[in-house]
Amino acid sequence: GSLPPAETVRALVREAWEHFAPVTDGHVADYIPALAEADPSLFGLCIAGVDGRSFALGDADHAFSIQSMSKPFVFALVCEALGGGIARERVGVNATGLPFNSVMAIELNAERTMNPMVNAGAIATTSLVPGANIEAKWAFIREGLSRFAGRELAMDERVYTSEAATNQRNQGIARLLHGYGRLYADPDEATELYTRQCALNVTAHDMAVMGATLADGGVNPVTRERVVDADRCQRVLAVMATAGLYEHSGDWLYEVGLPGKSGVAGGIVTIAPGKGGLGVFSPPLDAAGNSVRGQLATKFLSEALGLNLFASR
Ligand code: GLN
Repeated sequence: GSLPPAETVRALVREAWEHFAPVTDGHVADYIPALAEADPSLFGLCIAGVDGRSFALGDADHAFSIQSMSKPFVFALVCEALGGGIARERVGVNATGLPFNSVMAIELNAERTMNPMVNAGAIATTSLVPGANIEAKWAFIREGLSRFAGRELAMDERVYTSEAATNQRNQGIARLLHGYGRLYADPDEATELYTRQCALNVTAHDMAVMGATLADGGVNPVTRERVVDADRCQRVLAVMATAGLYEHSGDWLYEVGLPGKSGVAGGIVTIAPGKGGLGVFSPPLDAAGNSVRGQLATKFLSEALGLNLFASR
C-alpha cells in the first residue's frame, strides 16, 4: 500500500495541526539553557512519502537539535558497517521499560546489553562507529545522517557546548558499560561523539525524509540514494518499536501502532513501513521526555491515514 491521495494527506495534516496547536500541556526540557529557552508554541508537522512527495505545515522548517532521534539512524549506519548480527550481539535489542538515561537498565540485565534506543545502548552503538580517530568517526556519523536527510546537517554549537558541560551521567553510563566489557571504544571518546550526534540540527521536514528513508528500505525518496540495506531498516524499526519512547514504548505501540523515536528537544520521527515518514516538532514534553503535541498529532495521523501496523485493514 501507499499513503492516501495527496489532497487527503494535506487535509489531515492541516486538521492535526489545527486540532493540537492549542494544547499547552507539558514542559520544555530545562537541563540546559539552549533547550530551556525553546519557544513552547513552536509546532511543525511533515509527512514524507516513499514516492518523494512531502506535506509540511507550521514550523516544519524550524531547526532544533535531533537529540535521541539520532539513535535509530546511527544504529542503522553501524549495522551497515559491521553487520546486523554483530551489532545485535554487542549492543542488545531488548526493551528496557525504563527511562532513557537509566543506569539500572544496565544493572538489571544479566548480559549487560541494552537497546540502541536508550542512552546506554546508543552510547555502545556509537562506540562501534568505524574510523581511525575521533574526527573520522564523527565524519562517519555526520555524513551518514546527512545522507538520510538528503542535505548536509550541521551541529548546533550552543547545544553541543552546554550538553558537553553537563553530560556527567552519560559519561557514567559509558564507564559502567566499559567496566562490563560492553563498550567498544574509549568511554570519553564514545560519550563525546554521542554528545555531538545529539546536537546535530534538523527540522521536522528533515525528520520526515529521514523516516521515509527507513520506510523505503534504506533509499532516500528525495535523492534516490541508497543509504543502508533494506534488512538494516527492518531491524532498526524493530528496536524503535521496543524502546523508541522509553518507558512509554508500550503505550505508544498500543495507540499508534508504528515504530517511532522521540528526542528531548521536542521532535518525534515515526515510520510507516513502505509508505513514508512523519516528523513532528513541538518542544513541551511529558514526564518521560516525549513531545506532548508530537504524540497527539502522530496518534491522530496514524489513525486517520490508516497506518497502524496491527490493523487488519
Ligand atoms: N542529549 C540527551 C541525553 O542523552 C538526549 C536525550 C534525549 O533526547 N532523550 O542525555
